[in-house]
Amino acid sequence: MQRIAKTNPSSDSPVRNVLNFVDGAFVPAMGGRAFDKRSPVNGALIARVAEAGRDDVDAAVGAARAALRGPWADLALQQRCDLLYGVADEINRRFDDFLEAEVADTGKPVSLARQIDIPRGAANFKIFADVVKNVPGEVFETPTPDGAGALNFAVRAPVGVVAAICPWNLPLLLMTWKVGPALACGNTVVVKPSEETPQTATLLGEVMNAVGVPGGVYNVVHGFGPGSAGEYLTTHPGVDAITFTGETRTGAAIMKAAADGARPVSLEMGGKNPALVFADCDFDAAIEGTMRSCFANCGQVCLGTERVYVERPIFERFVAALKEKAEAMRLGSPADPGTGMGPLISQEHRDKVLSYYRKAVEEGATVVTGGGIPEMPEDLAGGSWIQPTIWTGLSDEAAVTTEEIFGPCCHIAPFDSEAEAIDRANATKYGLAASVWTTNLARAHRVSARLETGIVWVNSWFLRDLRTPFGGAKQSGIGREGGVYSLEFYTELKNVCIKL
Ligand code: NAD
Repeated sequence: MQRIAKTNPSSDSPVRNVLNFVDGAFVPAMGGRAFDKRSPVNGALIARVAEAGRDDVDAAVGAARAALRGPWADLALQQRCDLLYGVADEINRRFDDFLEAEVADTGKPVSLARQIDIPRGAANFKIFADVVKNVPGEVFETPTPDGAGALNFAVRAPVGVVAAICPWNLPLLLMTWKVGPALACGNTVVVKPSEETPQTATLLGEVMNAVGVPGGVYNVVHGFGPGSAGEYLTTHPGVDAITFTGETRTGAAIMKAAADGARPVSLEMGGKNPALVFADCDFDAAIEGTMRSCFANCGQVCLGTERVYVERPIFERFVAALKEKAEAMRLGSPADPGTGMGPLISQEHRDKVLSYYRKAVEEGATVVTGGGIPEMPEDLAGGSWIQPTIWTGLSDEAAVTTEEIFGPCCHIAPFDSEAEAIDRANATKYGLAASVWTTNLARAHRVSARLETGIVWVNSWFLRDLRTPFGGAKQSGIGREGGVYSLEFYTELKNVCIKL
């Protein structure tokens, strides 16, 4: 059965039939349930997606459990890594298929997905194959009374069946950021993609089959959170560990589910990330970086900036320059190379973001630019378009300056001292990322050390090296992923003591 087929191949209807992927086969939900997926660009129905029930999740977890003991477990490390290199190559070979599916689901500009989402989706398999092959071990020589001694060494064993619960903002990239290391470490996975972005995870099933990854190693179940596939998967007793990326409140619910059976969780959650712009910065670089960090992917990046603190001497100039850039950004069809920003993921999400746009005004903000819905041509009018928006004049206690909005918007506030900027940046329950713009090296070190976040970028934003630790402090996350840090979650470190 095809994983993504036109429901009616003889018509021009672009509506696709997106299936679950269980034990190497594309299957509809056993109960026959399916839900609609609409285009964020124009609101058109683009897919009917199989909605997994308890039985489907049970079958997927069962297949993953069986595969742990099957040919997958018998592969030598090099063979497993070769399969993952093959997955990366096959994603690249089918680059255009992944690009088309990702853009259809998200509405993001093709230029962005071409540069970030799809290449990173492939790279995540390669980097973690490299990591597991090169991770060094430790040996302790232990004296014993008979003088012969013992050797202690630690080996890494897979944790077992991993459930991966994924968000919609960077669907392939963030899903493979989990699946890559999980498989490299010898686990099997059941992925629950976001209901908003079902296609690329499903397409990856075709890649797994083409490359020869054994059935059951990679499984996909579609659906929602509570009362649907997300809940069924995270509460399933056959799941050994849960890795999650999404909202903090969802992460807390998943942590509760994981408490049954005392299963480990890795949580990558929300943020309210600050940018600190000092008067001694490279002004143009700070504007360019802040533009990207506020508006890239229509502001739907967990690492994105929603609070900008600018040192008072350059405050007015900074606000004016960011306004000019924001107003020059083109909203439009993802396929148009001139498009700088696409729509939000859904009408529902737009309602949420617009509620903050209204709240900003109620809270007394000055709307520097934006604040509403843009006029779009008729063929795009049904999409979830929104204006890039900048505010000033709010207090640090306002809802708009404290709660994660996840849209193309930021509040800019002036500050007068380094200590004040740090205190205000840290005055949040979140702690994912921060960016600091300064040409003073000592200040860069001082400020980075005092920021309560998992990631600090100095004179840059979203400059990623996949070997580095990635994750959030405070309520932005639990655990670190990336490079060898992913091994802490995806393996059990087992000590073997050999008496000589
Ligand atoms: P979300 O929490 O609404 O959903 C994420 C996933 O969880 C979806 O697959 C959803 O179906 C599932 N889910 C929802 N409720 C569930 C439940 N009770 N049990 C099991 N599964 C459940 O998040 P989203 O709206 O898809 O993504 C946006 C959020 O993700 C933002 O808060 C953003 O900051 C965060 N995010 C964080 C990172 C990071 O690395 N820290 C990266 C990307 C996105």
